[in-house]
Amino acid sequence: MMVNNDLSESIIFPKGNKVEGPLASVFTGDAWVEMLVTDEKFNCPVYNVTFEPRGRNNWHSHPGGQILLVTGGRGWYQEDGKPGRELKPGDVVKIPSNVKHWHGAAKDSWFTHLGITTNPEKGDAKWFETVTDEEYNKLDS
Ligand code: MN
Repeated sequence: MMVNNDLSESIIFPKGNKVEGPLASVFTGDAWVEMLVTDEKFNCPVYNVTFEPRGRNNWHSHPGGQILLVTGGRGWYQEDGKPGRELKPGDVVKIPSNVKHWHGAAKDSWFTHLGITTNPEKGDAKWFETVTDEEYNKLDS
């Protein structure tokens, strides 16, 4: 399969560090994260996330919700029990509080999005099971 490698390095925001340690256990494939806004006074964490082709996070939810702003490549967003939504640069994903979902790259493309944690005072993300290859492979073929 031809893989679009144009986004193997970030083209807009810094790619940051490869996810390692405990957080790596909630990803399938490699991912990179650069925290862009962490200042307490803004109460609004903003971060750039890059996924390798087929890379994705586990099913999870955010107690205060999350917004994704897609900046590069092609990827997927899926809520539990719903079909996947294909994502391209410029797309905005509004993820309500406590809705179980995952996000990640397409099979043949790197994928980058900005993440914004809304209402962060409501708590950290809750992490669930892996998005299996069986689930992932249903998205596009
Ligand atoms: Mn999320």
